[in-house]
Amino acid sequence: MNPIRRPLIAGNWKMNGQSADVGPLAGELAARLNNAGNTAFDMLVCPPFTLLAEVIDVAGDSGLMVGAQDCHAAEKGAHTGDISAAMLADLGCSHVILGHSERRTNHGETSTEVCIKTRAAWAAGLVAVVCVGETESERDDGKTLEIVGSQISESLPDGATSANTVIAYEPVWAIGTGRTASPDEAQAAHAFIRAELNGRFGGESARMCILYGGSMKPDNAAELIALSDIDGGLIGGASLIADDFWAIGQSCS
Ligand code: PEP
Repeated sequence: MNPIRRPLIAGNWKMNGQSADVGPLAGELAARLNNAGNTAFDMLVCPPFTLLAEVIDVAGDSGLMVGAQDCHAAEKGAHTGDISAAMLADLGCSHVILGHSERRTNHGETSTEVCIKTRAAWAAGLVAVVCVGETESERDDGKTLEIVGSQISESLPDGATSANTVIAYEPVWAIGTGRTASPDEAQAAHAFIRAELNGRFGGESARMCILYGGSMKPDNAAELIALSDIDGGLIGGASLIADDFWAIGQSCS
């Protein structure tokens, strides 16, 4: 965490949640934000498409931001079952997660596709949360920086800024496994990503948020977020429990 960047605590609900969960989760977070007044962090939740409208409604003017977990690259057209960035913006979303490892693995999404989707997100006025990260075997083979470097270079279009893009470094082996990157491993990857961003986008890189994702919990968040190039978290499991997600936000102070 560096004072130049405001930490972002982002929750990825994945394919979890139904209407009954909106109040106890998003409603509770919105109420806490309202009560807190000023916080040391921004908070974002990314529920499944089916709950976006309800979550946007309960978020109201609390400051709780709402994003989606993916979008199509086209603005509209014959793409049965898909949702465009323009539709998400029309609904009131501010962000969209792109290139999550589960989409790269389960849907064969490539960095080139992530790049095209990122441009679509920007065109709709959304902030793209672009995910990168190595698998366990890539790390074991000593290829972490090579893989992350190529994902960053191929997934980000020219024109990325701190206003339109957030990066999430998510080592695949740490997602949903209970294993977290050690502070040294995480900081090394984040510092490398920032250097890559600096090479491409110059001084703007100092203002760009790089989130850590991978089994972030209330008991490890403070140590990770305190590191100089970690600017918050992209959180899966712990974002489904209001107390835990809120506690992660509190660790930013
Ligand atoms: C994620 O899905 O982006 C994630 C980091 O999940 P978890 O926190 O459950 O590891």
